[in-house]
Amino acid sequence: MTRILIIGAGGVGRVVTHKCAQNPEVFTEITLASRTLSKCETIARELDGAIRIASVDADQVQETADLIRKVDCELVINVALPYQDLTIMEACLEAGAHYVDTANYEPRDEARFSYEYQWPYHQRFQEKGLMALLGSGFDPGVTNVFTAYTLKHYLDRIETLDILDCNGGDHGLPFATNFNPEINIREITANGRYWEQGNWIETPPLSVHQPFTFPEVGEKEMYLLYHEEMESLCRHIPDLQRIRFWMTFSEQYLNHLQVLQNVGMTSIEPIRIGKVEIAPIEVLKAVLPDPASLGPLTKGKTVIGTIAKGVKHGVPRRIYVYNVCDHQECYREVHSQAVSYTTGVPAMIGAKLMLTGDWMRPGVWNMEQFDPDPFMEALSQNGLPWQIQELDPHATLDP
Ligand code: NDP
Repeated sequence: MTRILIIGAGGVGRVVTHKCAQNPEVFTEITLASRTLSKCETIARELDGAIRIASVDADQVQETADLIRKVDCELVINVALPYQDLTIMEACLEAGAHYVDTANYEPRDEARFSYEYQWPYHQRFQEKGLMALLGSGFDPGVTNVFTAYTLKHYLDRIETLDILDCNGGDHGLPFATNFNPEINIREITANGRYWEQGNWIETPPLSVHQPFTFPEVGEKEMYLLYHEEMESLCRHIPDLQRIRFWMTFSEQYLNHLQVLQNVGMTSIEPIRIGKVEIAPIEVLKAVLPDPASLGPLTKGKTVIGTIAKGVKHGVPRRIYVYNVCDHQECYREVHSQAVSYTTGVPAMIGAKLMLTGDWMRPGVWNMEQFDPDPFMEALSQNGLPWQIQELDPHATLDP
């Protein structure tokens, strides 16, 4: 009997809940809790009532710990927002449950997400015999596992690593974000940053870009961004000399974003309008389409993967590991588009490997610190098959 609690009934929460329900041999009792109960009710209806639901404000440690105790769950999957990571970790420690998330903590008043808030919990989790698995989404998440897999099977050492995230999907709307707009826009409008020879190098937002021909999608312009998995990978992958992250955006998306930025709508600094104080980005979030509503509209594919350059038995090699995911196929299966799907499936797999014991180790861990093989196998079995391409190690185009 394994009871789990999923917190957050957004786009990703829907996929995790569906996917856990598809694996009843591991997840025997599922409770979905979120701030707005009606969102949990909708998902419960999709699953013919096979799950329990509850409402919770996960900003409140005590309230969350009380729910964990009431549900009597072994593990909590946090797919609320990065702002809730620490309160949910505290609640897990208090009530005695393992923890999984898909995004690292970010303070509300500062667009700065980092593992430095969560790594210090290592000893407290270890002392309680509990485990916290950080970043079990796609990127971070699967990209960390792809890196560990490349290192285990294809390269003796990885010298440079590029993570490439392409969303070749189109929802037909002038401007919308594929996941939570506030988190998404905060990530994109921040300075770009990559890591080389032990140093972080900053670049102005979206200033470094190049075309890349993605499998099944074709050529897209991709932009250098800071992304959270780099923080743990540069720490855990030995011999790494450089790591960069790239994401594709359409010209239309960037033009809209530029205008919104120019008029101050992406700012997280609260402004006063009459008696109300609110950050412009929260207003923007309220007027933009709900990412969950994009599911039925989005056509096309995502291609996310890693290109690692290094050496095997003294011979240079360049290995591309990637997954292609079709928005409409995801929607048919779980009523969500591929961005939520590619995050929710790995969250379920991370939880499953912890509960089956394959990845169970008290403390706070990142994905690349575990044997990648069972995770890679589970990806193929649960809707995210991957491919490997050997690229020319001497190609001049980089990556
Ligand atoms: P959504 O905004 O669609 O959903 C978030 C959900 O969390 C909503 O149901 C929201 O409730 C709920 N929530 C927010 N605050 C609280 C709270 N205090 N207590 C309880 N519930 C709360 O986001 P997504 O589903 O798109 O994203 C979920 C997470 O996944 C985010 O952390 C995101 O950063 C991460 N992510 C990770 C990716 C990866 O590859 N690693 C990729 C994409 C997303 P309400 O509806 O009431 O607001």
